[in-house]
Amino acid sequence: MDKSSSLVVVSPNTKYTDEFIYSDYDYEETLVTKNGSELVAKPYRKSLSIRTGRKVGKVGVMLVGWGGNNGSTFTAGVLANRHQLSWNTKNGKVDSNWYGSITQSSTVRLGIDEQGQDVYVPMSQLLPMVDPDDLEIDGWDISPLNLAESMARAKVIDYDLQQKLKKEMAAMKPRPAIYDPDFIAANQADRATNLIRGTKYEQYLQIRADIKNFRDKKKLDKVIVLWTANTERFCVVRDGVHDTAENLERALRNNEPEISPSTIFALASIDEGCCYINGSPQNTLVAGVVERAEKNGVYVAGDDFKSGQTKLKSVLVDFLVSAGLKPVSIVSYNHLGNNDGKNLSAPQQFRSKEITKSNVVDDMVESNSILYKPGEKPDHVVVIKYVPYVGDSKRAMDEYTSEIMLHGTNTLVIHNTCEDSLLAVPLILDLVLLAELFTRVSFRPDENHEWRGLHAVLSALSYLLKAPAVPPGAPVVNALFKQRAALDGLLRAALGLRAHGLQLEHRVP
Ligand code: NAD
Repeated sequence: MDKSSSLVVVSPNTKYTDEFIYSDYDYEETLVTKNGSELVAKPYRKSLSIRTGRKVGKVGVMLVGWGGNNGSTFTAGVLANRHQLSWNTKNGKVDSNWYGSITQSSTVRLGIDEQGQDVYVPMSQLLPMVDPDDLEIDGWDISPLNLAESMARAKVIDYDLQQKLKKEMAAMKPRPAIYDPDFIAANQADRATNLIRGTKYEQYLQIRADIKNFRDKKKLDKVIVLWTANTERFCVVRDGVHDTAENLERALRNNEPEISPSTIFALASIDEGCCYINGSPQNTLVAGVVERAEKNGVYVAGDDFKSGQTKLKSVLVDFLVSAGLKPVSIVSYNHLGNNDGKNLSAPQQFRSKEITKSNVVDDMVESNSILYKPGEKPDHVVVIKYVPYVGDSKRAMDEYTSEIMLHGTNTLVIHNTCEDSLLAVPLILDLVLLAELFTRVSFRPDENHEWRGLHAVLSALSYLLKAPAVPPGAPVVNALFKQRAALDGLLRAALGLRAHGLQLEHRVP
């Protein structure tokens, strides 16, 4: 299917108007109860109408940390694809692509053709989505370098492609940002010269003004804000400060030290009606932020891009546990030499990463009560070291030891080398495109109810995130293919096609 192909569903459950795609969807689940020692499973069915806006509009993305490796590589990636650039490498001439992006480079099975063969379509063609070529990009950074300079500093993009992009990217300059040396590593201080001064409340107002300015200047219908700046330490969550939207507002106005820069960015985005996505591990999305997002009808999503090691872990452990083998020890070493690695070499920032990397097997372990007693978990250790020479080419070495039949042992060792930012950037694109799509999807049980969006914590994006934030009380799913099935399923359901594993009771408020 090329970019101009479109898809039409012909079904009594699916209706198209100029503005919307309507789907009548029968959602199926099984309620399991306990009757003494007997489990009783009762399948049930609920009807739901789903409505998807067809007009995508003009969309902009603002990156916090625009001048970083991810920010500059994302910008280079969008421009290289938009201009369909080719460039020379030592292996010859190569073309731009979006490998690693599920919306641009993966397919979803639609059905069968007349010969009974499977038919797959690009995910981007299931429902109307933003074309990456049309995205406007802007953002903030504490470092003043323009985007051509930051692309050179990142050492990710091939030299010849850098030359082709240099002129356009030199004209892009990050807006001043919020720097609080208490939250990122002291080793970042020398690049922090492009700053918004003043109190936390004044900084919040400036971020709101920046979003408004970008929206007006580019005549945008929607702006999505995404944090790809350095990992902060966790803020110390306090009652009376972070727990409600009201307390957070008061604390912000009182210049409370435990409000992190990322929480200020989140609040400003939410108050400007912009979806906010947290691509790093820290606990930006405190309860007060989530309440504010709910009140304003805005989505938040996080935490931390699930790009390399964790993505594989969430496949491998799922495979082992579902095969009836018992992982008992998982040890992950990383070494990397980019600025992210430098920041993570400080203990408090490493701790944030360690937390998001550590919980990623919990749901798989808890799913199998034959292998694990309640509360039992494999030993799981994560080590990250900063080695400047390897730059953005991160090494990840993992050892998985499992108990097999009659107390035998099986050890798998995985060695993974690749440019970190070239894995993260397609995820940034998917997060933006899918978050935007979900702002146009709404649900209602029947005609007597109003159309409502998904819960403000957009757990449907879990596939792309290492420690998925979920609505209060909802289970966290880390297993990669379950996450993918839920995402594909939501898109299929919006078209009136059958789908499984949607977990709608936790996603639709
Ligand atoms: P980077 O250090 O190259 O870029 C981060 C940028 O953020 C820097 O330019 C820095 O100057 C800027 N910055 C720091 N604090 C800021 C603030 N308060 N406001 C605005 N800008 C600020 O790092 P990177 O490799 O681009 O990674 C970015 C983030 O993504 C890191 O937190 C990293 O842990 C996370 N992440 C990356 C990957 C991946 O690359 N594969 C995967 C998961 C998570």
